[in-house]
Amino acid sequence: MIKRFSLISVSIALGCIATIAPVLTSIYVADEDVERRDQNELRDFAAKALMRSELVTYQAFAALAELDRFPGASCSPENLAQAARVIFNYGYIQDAGTYSDGQYLCSPLLGDVRTKHLALPPPDWRSADGYSVWFMRKSPLSDVREDIQVGRNGHYVFIDPKSYVDLIDPARRPIAAINTATGTLFALSSGANKDEMLNAWKLGGKLNTQGWYYAVAKSATRPLAVVVKAPRSSLVGDWPKLLAMWLSIGVALGAGFGWLAYKRVSHQLSFTATLEWAIARKKIQVVYQPIVRLADNRCVGVEALVRWQLNGRYVSPEIFVAVAEQNHLIQPLTDLVLARTIAELSPLFRADPTFYASINLSSEDLRSDRFLNLLTNALKGTGIASSQIRIEATERRFMNADETRGVIEAFRTAGHPVYIDDFGTGYSSLSYLQTFQVDVLKIDKSFVDTMAKDSASSIVAPHIIAMAHELGLEVVAEGVESAPQVEYLRERGVQYVQGWYFAKAMPVIELMAWLLAREKPQEAARLTTL
Ligand code: C2E
Ligand code: CA
Ligand code: CA
Repeated sequence: MIKRFSLISVSIALGCIATIAPVLTSIYVADEDVERRDQNELRDFAAKALMRSELVTYQAFAALAELDRFPGASCSPENLAQAARVIFNYGYIQDAGTYSDGQYLCSPLLGDVRTKHLALPPPDWRSADGYSVWFMRKSPLSDVREDIQVGRNGHYVFIDPKSYVDLIDPARRPIAAINTATGTLFALSSGANKDEMLNAWKLGGKLNTQGWYYAVAKSATRPLAVVVKAPRSSLVGDWPKLLAMWLSIGVALGAGFGWLAYKRVSHQLSFTATLEWAIARKKIQVVYQPIVRLADNRCVGVEALVRWQLNGRYVSPEIFVAVAEQNHLIQPLTDLVLARTIAELSPLFRADPTFYASINLSSEDLRSDRFLNLLTNALKGTGIASSQIRIEATERRFMNADETRGVIEAFRTAGHPVYIDDFGTGYSSLSYLQTFQVDVLKIDKSFVDTMAKDSASSIVAPHIIAMAHELGLEVVAEGVESAPQVEYLRERGVQYVQGWYFAKAMPVIELMAWLLAREKPQEAARLTTL
């Protein structure tokens, strides 16, 4: 009897352990997962905040460069008018003027103060590339506000420190901007303490405060860092309640998830295997989307876009390219796209030596010279110039900046212009521009979509365009769908456009007909009547 009783209790205990152990493990894992996600999300936010700080810094430099370009006499009425234009055009600039020998001379807000001897103390910091910075400078106009003053070559601009940190963030996470050369915290949004944020920066975000996470993002190009913080969220706050809930539904859920996981893994396996098979059998097509030059409305080249049909339906390239990337199939896929592009477009390439095709590369393609060697060999003896095959690299895929930089340089040296794709969608776009030498920026469709509309991205778009001009880069706007967008881009000096307003991506036969109809309408009409 006793034996049976203990057997039952052991079974019950084992049963309980068998039920509870996985549940507890899942709760623990889930809690860890929430923590990891929170931290990742905060790191992303830090990168976004850094991009804003870099943008403000860049704008100050651009404004100073523009002040520097004024050819006439300092403090003349024309000079003050030009400075006023700079203030108006650069949204983050509060005042822009001239100084010399420790004195303010003039600005649109101060007026001509040369005789007033308004003193300007020496700067708090001088950068290696010649910028002087005063971190908390009271303008002679104000006895309340302290601004950041940046000067160069006798010109200065005032920036409200809030510009560096006033991101639109529904979670209102505090942000601080720090000059890493001097260790000065020069901008701080509400909800945080100066010492705390400085400490978090010094510890690389590993500050141990109860209830808070910190993240630090450092600029790749300037001595600039931002620190952000967010409250910890914890799953196990109400542990007993959660336990009861999990106990009741744990088993059913486990079985359900198990079944789903099994389905998903087996689907993934078969999807990947089918893709591998399709690539090996070259059952992949390439379509071409025209790129139009706005100056003369001519189609100057195309972007090669890969297509795959599975069971009679096209699979989105966003999906199968990602699967190819995760399963080491991307290199054979890129090779196939290149081979098809050269084979299908060579008549067009030979007929017009300025006509080009751009090919999308993935991070694996950018990690070594393998693809460049293949490309060089493929072009040998074909009469196709290297500038007729161009490279599109999206920063989302530049996983390893050091390796990629050399490969990108090698493409350029070999005569293949390099485009940065989806510019503006990654958080690090600005620093990449200074890290990588490229030829062309492709502005992402998400910015083009909001053009001429009153939204946050439409504020960013003109800056991206202005910055590209400043850096001597050409610009292609992607996803152009309407005439007002074309007008907007034309007014801002964007040279090239691509989008459904002109044409969708199409197979080579349709492309040739499209080109003919566009360039030689009479001939096209004659052919269709034959
Ligand atoms: P992407 O490089 O940004 O290509 C542009 C995408 O925008 C293409 O989608 C194109 O069809 C679409 N598009 C162009 N104009 C318009 C427009 O006016 N309106 C709208 N709504 N969409 C427009 P697609 O072909 O589906 O390609 C999606 C992404 O897949 C590409 O984005 C690229 O990241 C990737 N991809 C495509 N082909 C290749 C390839 O050969 N190799 C690699 N590595 N990636 C590729
Ligand atoms: Ca592209
Ligand atoms: Ca793109």
